[in-house]
Amino acid sequence: MVALGPGLTRPKGAHHVDAQAGMLLPGLHDHHVHLLSSAASLRSINVGPSEVRSLDDLRRVLREARAVRDGVWIRAIGYHESVAGPLDRDLLDQLLPSTPLRIQHRSGAMWFLNSLGLERSGLEHEAHPAVERDGQGRATGRLWRGDHMFAVDDGTDVDALGVLSDTAVRRGVTGFTDAMPNQTLAGLETLASAHRDGVIRQHLTLMSPLHVVAMTNSDVQVGPVKVLLDDDDLPEFDDLIQTIADAHLAGRAVAIHCVTELQTVYALSAIKDAGPNGGDRIEHGSVVPVELDALARACEVTVVTQPHFIEERGDEYLRDVPESLRDVLYRARTLLEAGIPLAGGTDAPFGSSDPWVAIAAATRRATRSGAVIGPLERLTPTRAIDLFTGDARQPGHRRRIEVGSRADLCLLSLNTEAALESLSSENVRATIIAGRVAFER
Ligand SMILES: [Zn+2]
Repeated sequence: MVALGPGLTRPKGAHHVDAQAGMLLPGLHDHHVHLLSSAASLRSINVGPSEVRSLDDLRRVLREARAVRDGVWIRAIGYHESVAGPLDRDLLDQLLPSTPLRIQHRSGAMWFLNSLGLERSGLEHEAHPAVERDGQGRATGRLWRGDHMFAVDDGTDVDALGVLSDTAVRRGVTGFTDAMPNQTLAGLETLASAHRDGVIRQHLTLMSPLHVVAMTNSDVQVGPVKVLLDDDDLPEFDDLIQTIADAHLAGRAVAIHCVTELQTVYALSAIKDAGPNGGDRIEHGSVVPVELDALARACEVTVVTQPHFIEERGDEYLRDVPESLRDVLYRARTLLEAGIPLAGGTDAPFGSSDPWVAIAAATRRATRSGAVIGPLERLTPTRAIDLFTGDARQPGHRRRIEVGSRADLCLLSLNTEAALESLSSENVRATIIAGRVAFER
């Protein structure tokens, strides 16, 4: 940011956004998201007989998918004639004319394409026998055993990443920390090149195992070393300490997946023995008993939580989690009061990808059925927003809007008072990433 304040002169040619007294926030950072898994979940829709029962059903499902994917390929799988009889381009054009579409038959042997799909894939004019043609030589939209002919659109994953990025931009998100466990070099390269090519417009920080670091010329940040713990298969305690020490030696923090009390105790004890480096993270922190607060503080960890799980999964928790643990489920306010930094991540696709859903949930602590879990853990709207305004490396530290800081901003259409009353991504008016207007309405 170059200058801040009233009465500034606008440089010639500068883009002008009239904020109209709307609330201005640091751009939101999603501190825990799985981009490739989210992309894969967008990539295909299931139109098999168990999901879709009629032609009307098929039309509805395809149009819903179009609403999310907006102009990019729709790839559907699992189709069977019992749904709506045999398909061809004319029928598919009636269902979905303006989005390229391909539907795979459940047998895997056939694809059905609409006209735009035929055109985009180049199959319209392809003389290969796999492309079925009618008496006049017009492609019918049926492709028989022709999977290999889609080589060109195997970039669908990249399209899906673009959709994720665009959707997040509209919600004010200017940065992601990808938390993929067991990330591979290929996965890192895919994300880094999507970032370099401008498909992912947000700043990117990528977690990975200790020895998996992408060598790219993209300006993505190397994130913490992701460590998964599993109650039934915990690593040797000394091995965990060694992993943490090695990560620190390599200049990286650790981000340890902790969804049970046992995992939290194990992780914190190991960090303590390895020696804290100030940037280590407890992912989820689903169960952090109060007795562990002193240890967590000594370990200088940040807890990266998902407040919307209370809303999305709370009714299951009430059924499955022993009563004695309910008050320490996804703690928030009492962690902050104990001096433990707290930040938020959507954990998409396993939770809603909209950080505003998480923000609103953090203030309510209500399940879908309306039950409240841990009312003492409710955050004020301001504190809840701050879960997503932290620094990528120090997620619990709110970034400041000040001269010299990177111009990553989220402008709301409401003034502060109104915006804090109505926490929703619908209020995002403009998103600015590194000084460029990435979204405006
Ligand atoms: Zn996760």
